[in-house]
Amino acid sequence: MSDHASYGFTTTILHNDRQQAIEHGSPHKPVHTSVTFGYKDARDLAAVFQGKQSGYRYGRQGNPTVSALEDKISKMEGGAASICFATGMAAIGALFQALLREGDQIISSAFLFGNTSSLLQTVASQGVAVAYVDATDVANVEAVITPATRMVFVETIANPRTQIADLKKIGSLCRERGILFVVDNTMTSPYLFQPKKVGAGLVINSLTKSIAGHGNVLGGAITDTGLFDWAAYPNIADNFRKQASPQQGMAQIRAKALRDFGASLAPDAAHQIAVGAETIALRLERECANALALAKMLEADPRVAVVHYPGLATHPQHALATELFRAYGALFSFELRADIDCFDFLNRLKLAINATHLGDTRTLIIPVAHTIFFEMGAERRAAMGIADSLIRVSVGIEDTQDLLQDFSAALSA
Ligand SMILES: *Cc1c(COP(=O)(O)O)cnc(C)c1O
Repeated sequence: MSDHASYGFTTTILHNDRQQAIEHGSPHKPVHTSVTFGYKDARDLAAVFQGKQSGYRYGRQGNPTVSALEDKISKMEGGAASICFATGMAAIGALFQALLREGDQIISSAFLFGNTSSLLQTVASQGVAVAYVDATDVANVEAVITPATRMVFVETIANPRTQIADLKKIGSLCRERGILFVVDNTMTSPYLFQPKKVGAGLVINSLTKSIAGHGNVLGGAITDTGLFDWAAYPNIADNFRKQASPQQGMAQIRAKALRDFGASLAPDAAHQIAVGAETIALRLERECANALALAKMLEADPRVAVVHYPGLATHPQHALATELFRAYGALFSFELRADIDCFDFLNRLKLAINATHLGDTRTLIIPVAHTIFFEMGAERRAAMGIADSLIRVSVGIEDTQDLLQDFSAALSA
């Protein structure tokens, strides 16, 4: 929407497809199911393959419906370009696969989504050194930088303990040292926070969570903010050096990770995600308000031992969250008093669903140590501050009073 750069977040999403002509004036980009794309002039086909002309070739590398979603995600993040993947994990796997080489080092927050943590074990087994740090303090990041450091990887709000990375200072440090700063923005989403504002070069989103928002479709994306100087990145193959510097990173990710690895987003899924994205602002306003109300109620209850939520004044990074994020997110975690069995409590809830996943319209609740962080083992959990009794809540859009009532009834019984 170059003529109307001043439109707000939701208006931009709603009207983005119509910026290009769509047959019959359809407000949605149609679902293009073709796997291949024909050219009247075979010379055009050759030019597309040789990168001299833009165009679609084969569905694994790109599809018009998926491109429309990629464009929308770029607008949401204020980024230069985006690539979609079948899942958020495929996007993260693609990132590491396309950009890291044996002998490199990656610095990662120790407070990580469990599957990303598991993926980094694979990365480490392939000869990349992984340095885990407490990223709530930039000094810990700076202390482990070596000449082999290729990227710093953090999440905005960590799941499940809600620690917030020292985003602004890590961004400045990476800019000074010329290191690629990658931010997994899933927990905040571009509605609450744009990592470009703190200097991130690449942004990851699991589209499965708040962006699609209804727990009915999987997807992931990498967005290039345009801030990182790819000409200075050592691991770009000669083939992609032929492109202008701003395009080199994404060209390599699209070819090496999307084309060769093949975890492409299906066009039907792209359409469903695009429909979900239209209401992300409305959903998150409600979810964040509900989360704050619920977290405050639990914090004030003597049967609750501790609540972790960036919206509470007691949260260690409350001030940073207030400064950087539009709201404090839809996820919090808490522990009950030691004499209350957490499984009994969970089973008394009538609205909150005992289930994994987050960023859904429905409130979901899960005992973390016994499920999503079980495989990690007690030692690693202890290092991440995850108590056996920790309960994670992803708050939905239910009517606030109904949610408060559900939790207080389950506590009272
Ligand atoms: C869910 C999640 C992912 C993975 O996304 P999928 O779409 O489930 O593969 C990555 N990072 C974070 C922070 C997540 O919450």
